[in-house]
Amino acid sequence: MASKKNANCSFCSRDKEQTGELISSPTGSYICRDCVEICSEILAPQQSMADVADQQSEAEAVPFNLLAPKEIKNVLDDYVIGQDYAKRTLSVAVYNHYKRVQNNLFNAPGSDDLEMEKSNVLLLGPSGCGKTLLAKTLAKVLDVPFTIFDATTVTEAGYVGEDVENIILRLIQAADGDIEKAQYGIIYVDEIDKKAKKGENMSITRDVSGEGVQQSLLKIIEGTHCNVPPKGGRKHPNQDYIQIDTRNILFVCAGAFVGLEDVIRGRLGRRVIGFSDQSKGVKSDADIEEIMREVEPGDLVKYGLIPELIGRLPVISTLNPLKEEDLVHILTNVKNSIIKQYQYILMSDGIKLSFSDEALKEMARMAIDKGTGARGLRSILEKSMLELMFELPSRSDVEEVIISKDFVSKGSEPEYILKKSKKKKSS
Ligand code: ADP
Repeated sequence: MASKKNANCSFCSRDKEQTGELISSPTGSYICRDCVEICSEILAPQQSMADVADQQSEAEAVPFNLLAPKEIKNVLDDYVIGQDYAKRTLSVAVYNHYKRVQNNLFNAPGSDDLEMEKSNVLLLGPSGCGKTLLAKTLAKVLDVPFTIFDATTVTEAGYVGEDVENIILRLIQAADGDIEKAQYGIIYVDEIDKKAKKGENMSITRDVSGEGVQQSLLKIIEGTHCNVPPKGGRKHPNQDYIQIDTRNILFVCAGAFVGLEDVIRGRLGRRVIGFSDQSKGVKSDADIEEIMREVEPGDLVKYGLIPELIGRLPVISTLNPLKEEDLVHILTNVKNSIIKQYQYILMSDGIKLSFSDEALKEMARMAIDKGTGARGLRSILEKSMLELMFELPSRSDVEEVIISKDFVSKGSEPEYILKKSKKKKSS
């Protein structure tokens, strides 16, 4: 073994004169400063690669696909037209909710000390403006089970109707029986406004058992262990139950809250003047949108929601009534739009289907008149197209059909372009 005086570095073989100080090991080998530095550079990246691998396995272990709020909104933009404010609020709420769940699952630093609230959401907006679609699309983005529950079908325990536990059973069914996955799902409670209790504002239609139903909903929204009868129906003694933890289930409650703008307007009092021409009593869509954005928990209490329930729905967002141009976009531009579906069916029969701009606008106007938002579009289109969809697949002479405004409004014949001759014909 070499004495330290004439020792060489065991890694680079240079002697002490070339390397300077050498570090000796108990086994009699030596290492110089340069080689120590090289070794630590080699080892450092290996360390961070190990971290990345850990993160990957964590991501694989969570039963949902968490994206950043901006990415969530980008996907929502593909499917939902307009409603920018609601999309932003929801993207952030959903991200925060699942981030909290992820941190708790992996005991992230600080997750024990910081009690983060569950970000359940309350969506306010007229019928057919995209509330359900937003929640459904979110569930798709996150790859979590999703179920819709109509609050008007829920009753207080002991009354005829559905028990709230059946909501959870539906979620388990949406998760194909996977209880673990169901515990991270999204439950959409529709028409929550119809369960507002009788309050000061008597002009609003209410259900007498409303408060009791809100109390029952509160129990599962609060986050508890819930006993679910495996076959649904009413609970009865001596039955085996599925135990499920509802702490991480995200609840999105929604309703049209007709008349809520008057409650808000009443609170805002004089400040509201300027939103519209009050002297003429005109309420434009823009007025209602602006007023609804001012909603506060107190307004919802006045409307008839119980304060405890409002306390469990910390994220409140409003959606706007859809305008003519939004409805035209919905018909043509969204992924899976109804028109694209018709075009796809006819394309497989070798027929091109086109719509004039005026025809699209006419359908949008008809939907607005019906007052059911975009929901009316499908029935309007289906009704107009029925005869055509019946006839066309048997016609081998047609190359293209152009739908006009008169076809939509008066049932006139569409414009046909025939094969070979390429002549325009109206019949
Ligand atoms: P609600 O607000 O009553 O929950 P929905 O989300 O159920 O309305 O909308 C009904 C249908 O109308 C949806 O399935 C979708 O086809 C269409 N729709 C409604 N709003 C939008 C929107 N903003 N963008 C695209 N499609 C929409």
